[in-house]
Amino acid sequence: MKSAIITITLAAICAVATTASAQTYEEKLAAGAEKTDQNHLNVPFVKPKNPKTVYTLPGNWPVFENRAPIDRSPRDKPSKVLVMGSGDPNPNPYRYGPALAVIVNGYPYFIDAGEGWWRAVGKSVTSQGALDLATIMAPRNLKYMFLTHLHEDHTVGLPSFISNPYKFSSTTGAADKKVYGPEGVDEMIAHINAGWRLDRNEMFQGSIMAAADGSTAVGVPIWPQVDVKGRKIFEDDNVMVEAFPTEHGFLKHTIAYRFTTKPDGRILVFGGDGHYSEGLVNAAKGADVLFVEGITRKNIKFASWGGDTVEEKVKTIGAYHMFPSDMKKLQHDSGVKEIVMIHVQNYNSPENFDRLGVLKEMQDEGVTNILQAQDGDLY
Ligand SMILES: [Zn+2]
Ligand SMILES: [Zn+2]
Repeated sequence: MKSAIITITLAAICAVATTASAQTYEEKLAAGAEKTDQNHLNVPFVKPKNPKTVYTLPGNWPVFENRAPIDRSPRDKPSKVLVMGSGDPNPNPYRYGPALAVIVNGYPYFIDAGEGWWRAVGKSVTSQGALDLATIMAPRNLKYMFLTHLHEDHTVGLPSFISNPYKFSSTTGAADKKVYGPEGVDEMIAHINAGWRLDRNEMFQGSIMAAADGSTAVGVPIWPQVDVKGRKIFEDDNVMVEAFPTEHGFLKHTIAYRFTTKPDGRILVFGGDGHYSEGLVNAAKGADVLFVEGITRKNIKFASWGGDTVEEKVKTIGAYHMFPSDMKKLQHDSGVKEIVMIHVQNYNSPENFDRLGVLKEMQDEGVTNILQAQDGDLY
């Protein structure tokens, strides 16, 4: 019985092998091409065949603004903000997870480590030519990370941030990382250090014989000593950083960071996720730029989560995210000069999808000086 099965199986394998080998290499390529009429960037854009699943909803279609990364930073200010990832939890292959960097005197300070962090660095270096990012992002410079909150979409890039630069640092050296964040960040970082112990040990005990320096991180919790008035949590020769509490769903500890750049006095605020709150208003008081999330209210019925009815979705999603009415109030109460949206949740019907839908909603609500970022932009 056993040998009969083996015979049949072998026969089946031979049949497959015969069919496959009858095709030339070019024929095989052509057969694959027949199944996909789109290139990997989907340009020109062809709508997915079944645009109703978590992978193919309009929020995952090619980049929100149909343009290359640009430099929107003030020419007379040497301190810059690089948007490396403008995405959200939706699996959009054209936008990396939330990841930003304040760059002062050629040195980067990172805010949030979303999905694809290391690749987002690589993409920015190769697509944004206004700064010498290849030098700025040298492994020895990748040290300071500030997490707005510990949701997966803002932290899943941490293992890359900690381990990947190290693997390429044998000649340049790598920095041990310091990760500031809400309560629990120390535990999260300790688990990541432990989880990638085998990989790390192979690097410095195996054939590469790299030094252990720069292969781990330490998590620095900055909660609970933060109240709505804010508190200074970091200072060096380049920047001063203050932390303020924000409100984002049922997470108890979420933070906005207010950076003051020392050489040129820019005030750059990173709100993370969340709706209008007193802490966020204080963080953004009179700031030059606020980087913050935004979400559609008009098309919230197309959101793939938050309940079955529009009322349920507004209540649930509104407890987590920034509707246009909240953004208006935030701008009014804080006096922030410019708002740059990342983490834009542009839920929409596949039939009427507008890449700039959320931006237009914000403007219709009366929000002024508001932009929508794309990966690789400078502000
Ligand atoms: Zn998020
Ligand atoms: Zn979140």
